[in-house]
Amino acid sequence: MVVLSSSRHALWRCVFSLLLLVHSAVAYSVISDDTLRALPRPGDDFDIHTGKLLSPILIPRVPGTPGSTAVLNHFNDFFQTSLPDWKIEFQNSTSKTPVSGDKEVPFVNFIAYRDPPWASKGDVGRLTLVAHYDSKYSPEGFIGAIDSAAPCAMIMHAMRSIDAALTKKWTEMGARGHSNLDLDEHTGIQVLFLDGEEAFQTWTDTDSLYGARSLAETWEDSYHPVMSNFKTELSSITLFVLLDLLGAKSPTIRSHFPTTHWAYQNMGKLENRLRELGELRSAPPHEEKAKRNEIRWLVDVEASERHVTSRGGISDDHLPFMHRGVEILHLIDFNSGSGFPKVWHTMEDTGENLDGPTVEDWSMLVTAFAAEWMELDGFFETTPSARSADLHSRKTEL
Ligand SMILES: [Zn+2]
Repeated sequence: MVVLSSSRHALWRCVFSLLLLVHSAVAYSVISDDTLRALPRPGDDFDIHTGKLLSPILIPRVPGTPGSTAVLNHFNDFFQTSLPDWKIEFQNSTSKTPVSGDKEVPFVNFIAYRDPPWASKGDVGRLTLVAHYDSKYSPEGFIGAIDSAAPCAMIMHAMRSIDAALTKKWTEMGARGHSNLDLDEHTGIQVLFLDGEEAFQTWTDTDSLYGARSLAETWEDSYHPVMSNFKTELSSITLFVLLDLLGAKSPTIRSHFPTTHWAYQNMGKLENRLRELGELRSAPPHEEKAKRNEIRWLVDVEASERHVTSRGGISDDHLPFMHRGVEILHLIDFNSGSGFPKVWHTMEDTGENLDGPTVEDWSMLVTAFAAEWMELDGFFETTPSARSADLHSRKTEL
């Protein structure tokens, strides 16, 4: 009897794992135009001087310095206050750096996640949104607004924007009762704000990605209970969406990996739809319709998967995860002609040089993508008229 039930259980798990595999390739449900129009906008929260989300990050935040601690506190306060259903963790490590001599520098990764309330931790696969929050050691006073203060704020806004819809959806699902076989019941969401991405001196394998290397290594060895759907914390990441160097005008975002091109295309379709609906503030005015239609951030949206070659050339926080088999969607502004945005790694990378409408539009795009991934259509408050007026009355605020 025991043997039979456990083998049946094992078989069941096996079927479930197979379903999960299929699921991870197709987990996605398109949201309606009404929902797209109704997604909350960041408004004043992205003001570079007083904005609740962005302005506290626009300070030097070199690992191990008071600026770094202040930004960590900002993340912590935000999640505790605005997103109380999220769990928060910190992952700590230390390392010597080329400029610290024998001194160990502390690195602290900030982790926040929300899972369906009925699910065990090891059974949940999480959409994982990632940006680094540290800033460069030199030049002194470097801010790193696109690199990556603004991406952190975009992710914060996106998570705040979907949170109520997530609660509504999970409350309804809970009330309905669940079968344990509905795959949607095992989808969670996670944010990683990583420390120590920047090199202290010159970029090498050991002087860079301090936080990401430590987290990927730790999570690879963090096992879930034996019968869990996912083996380790690392394998619980169903997609690692890395935002970096975003916030400059007219970005070029390539598709870097054939295996996640489908996710890239879903985001590209959302960009196109937001454009067509007139929901992007960075777009040229309506009168210049021809120009509007020419602009694409996700330039490879029409390309077929076969033409996406792995452009392994851009080293970033995804590498230690990718090398361990995690699927990556890398959203980084890089143009094969002009390279990274021109303020990159200069003292010009400041809040003042961010393109406000572009920062806001990115936050809307990330929100929409997360809403589709979490299958939240129908769970948002839709008050399109109020929001549309809001969009057009605030043209000059940022
Ligand atoms: Zn950088």
